[in-house]
Amino acid sequence: MASTIRRELIFVILWILLLLVAGTLYDLVFEFLFAGLLVYVIWNFYNLNMLSKWLANPSKKTPEVFGIWDDIYYQLYHLYKRQRKARRKLTSILKRFQKSTQALPEATIALNKANEIEWFNPAARQMFNLHPGLDIGQRIYNLVRQPKFVNYLLKKDFKKPLEFTLKGKKINISITPYGDGQYLVSARDITAQSQLDDMRRDFISNASHELRTPLTVMSGYIEYLQDKTDDTTKHPLEKIQQQTVRMDKIISELIDLAKLESASAVDYTKTVDIVTLLNEAYKEALSFDQNKHHIELAFEAEGSASKPAAELYGCYEELRMAISNLLTNAIRYTPENGNIKLYASTHDKGLSICVQDSGVGISEEHIPRLTERFYRVDAGRSSEKGGTGLGLAIVKQILDRHSASLNIVSKPNEGSNFCCNFPLSSIKS
Ligand code: ADP
Repeated sequence: MASTIRRELIFVILWILLLLVAGTLYDLVFEFLFAGLLVYVIWNFYNLNMLSKWLANPSKKTPEVFGIWDDIYYQLYHLYKRQRKARRKLTSILKRFQKSTQALPEATIALNKANEIEWFNPAARQMFNLHPGLDIGQRIYNLVRQPKFVNYLLKKDFKKPLEFTLKGKKINISITPYGDGQYLVSARDITAQSQLDDMRRDFISNASHELRTPLTVMSGYIEYLQDKTDDTTKHPLEKIQQQTVRMDKIISELIDLAKLESASAVDYTKTVDIVTLLNEAYKEALSFDQNKHHIELAFEAEGSASKPAAELYGCYEELRMAISNLLTNAIRYTPENGNIKLYASTHDKGLSICVQDSGVGISEEHIPRLTERFYRVDAGRSSEKGGTGLGLAIVKQILDRHSASLNIVSKPNEGSNFCCNFPLSSIKS
């Protein structure tokens, strides 16, 4: 381009020189200069006009021009060609992206900052009954009128997915922020999966109930036989009796779990007094322990066992069951004369109820799996101590229902600390 401008400059200088020479010859220097420059300006205006027409509809055929204009057309045509190529590439990528999102079984909706719909795929159209022409630009909560969904959207806390029922269908929704305040909503119809879950839960609950009756009958007969038997069969009968007690415990814990899973949401209008809860769990632990360990109860507030720490929103019976399970485990997995401490503490994130022991501890790799059903670090030791492998699964289920979490810190041979952490929103102020 620099050489073209240089050429154009030379042309203009030569043109002026020619005009000066001609002007001097005819003694009309000013008139020649004026007329020559006017011709030059008109010629450039003419070319500008042609360029603006060509730009409105660029094509391969560029006008017949010379000088700097020829070069401008050449550069512009190549720029246009490059852009056309990039646009074609982008269109094909966009088409491929649209094809893949259209084929997605998940309903996908793109929202802008104001929660207005920017785009959605056919699955979303079907699930939420959206109209491609009418609903683009509409606020999503004016079209998906489900209070739970609207709250979720307005709260803007999308760490956990949301499940809600819409026109008889169970829907799982997750929202991912992207770009400049935009959101990608993806929704799945989980009606069938949830029905299967219900069936599985019902099956476990029914099977547990059905097993209980024959077990009670067996237990009765074993007791009867134990009274009648001689020394040779006494021992085997004792073993059978121990196993029926164990089976009965597994069954009742399975029933507890099934009840918790199918129970309606926790009634948050009710409150639980932490002092009463901890005192009762403590007394129960003392009687279960029969003076084999040093069990201590402490409240953070002035270290006084009678000082109220707080009141929690939730279900007393469920929380009592969770704390009892943790205390029973501490007793089970702490050698005689070891220390066990039950304590509550309030902090800036909420309230924690913890059971700390100086027992056998757990190595790190087992910790993430402890709340799985029937997961035991040492199956032999657990059974020997009367464990079922369901206790911590029950604790987790109860804490999930109370929007709380279980934090486990443990080291082999040093002891464990199991803390139930309740958020600030669970504390009655
Ligand atoms: P279990 O009925 O076998 O005790 P849980 O679900 O209550 O089942 O606990 C799962 C496993 O976690 C136990 O088998 C045990 O190995 C380990 N565990 C639980 N609590 C403690 C504890 N306080 N100290 C050491 N290990 C523990």
